[in-house]
Amino acid sequence: MKTIRDILQKESLEKQDILYLLQTKDEERKILFETSRELRDRLLGNQVYLRGLIEYSNVCNKDCYYCGIRHSNRNQKRYVLSDEEVIECAKFAYENQYGSIVIQSGERTDEIFISRISAIIREIKKLSQGNLGITLSLGEQTLETYQQWFEAGAHRYLLRIESSNKELYAKIHPSNKLHSFEKRVEALRNIRKAGFQLGTGVMIGMPFQTLDDLAEDLLFLQKIDVDMVGMGPYIEHCDTPLYAFKDTLLPKKERLELTFKMISILRIMMKDINIAATTALQAIDPMGREKAIKIGANVIMPNITPGNVRKNYKLYEDKPCTDETPGECTECLDARIQMIGSKISYNQWGDTPHFKKNRENERVF
Ligand code: SAH
Ligand code: SF4
Repeated sequence: MKTIRDILQKESLEKQDILYLLQTKDEERKILFETSRELRDRLLGNQVYLRGLIEYSNVCNKDCYYCGIRHSNRNQKRYVLSDEEVIECAKFAYENQYGSIVIQSGERTDEIFISRISAIIREIKKLSQGNLGITLSLGEQTLETYQQWFEAGAHRYLLRIESSNKELYAKIHPSNKLHSFEKRVEALRNIRKAGFQLGTGVMIGMPFQTLDDLAEDLLFLQKIDVDMVGMGPYIEHCDTPLYAFKDTLLPKKERLELTFKMISILRIMMKDINIAATTALQAIDPMGREKAIKIGANVIMPNITPGNVRKNYKLYEDKPCTDETPGECTECLDARIQMIGSKISYNQWGDTPHFKKNRENERVF
């Protein structure tokens, strides 16, 4: 009979292996988690990189069925941070030695938005003498826009595929040109073409999603050879169409457990990439992110958005830290990471050997 030891010795995992690992329990689950942690420690060091998360705006043109800030949610008060506010956040990150930031927002593709983002990127590069790394998470854009933002100084881009199963993708999005699976994949290609380190990921425990889908998701991430991954549990939001399926969902604790297993298996499959311990983990378990670090994740994205607007960037329910100030978050984070025996690596962009190694290759998928 096949055992976990047989699987973990393999050069590369097949779908059946991944399905086996996703269902491990007790001692085998422990072995899985120890293996991924050990790999992270050996190849990337027992350390965590910080990306200060700035939630730039909750204005969004799209209508993803899972998301609380979707365009059609009339119950959501909207905001856009001023340029000065974003710069203040970036200064905070720089002064607190975060090393890098993420600018995330609802999706807009108008000229005013595009040029404001370019100007903000340039200003942040200037204030930090080029030292602060900038990741963008601003949705699907044209190749020209990605190029413009890359030239302005951003160097990493996060755009989740959400699900690599085209049929499931169609069930969690409206069916129109703004929400097409093909366009999503094309956007991922263009992000890489523009020069960015490519980040993507999926939600775990969505309505209609099966273990088979999750195994395929991991194979997809491997196939496109991503540089960084952010995967988190799906968490329902009452003002969204998917809320109607809430009674079909796995209990939140099981979605959390599945997310840990996805992170651990991904670390085994793609040993030297950046894997984030996402905020949604913390929404289910106050120690969710720390637990993800313990089993192989190596990036944390502390929220440094101004306190007064944080409650309005509500992608899902129970989003944590919505009434804290950035300073309180930094202190508590350092202590939390120490508590689990890791340490924060300050003042680093935190690029992985994976990206550096593959930088010269034209990686097409
Ligand atoms: N508009 C951009 C960035 C903001 S949304 C974009 O869509 O890429 C960032 C991520 O939040 C999404 O990719 C999605 O995976 C996650 N998200 C949205 N709603 C969620 C929910 N209900 N539960 C868990 N994650 C959610
Ligand atoms: Fe907009 Fe992103 Fe939410 Fe979709 S997931 S509705 S693009 S903010």
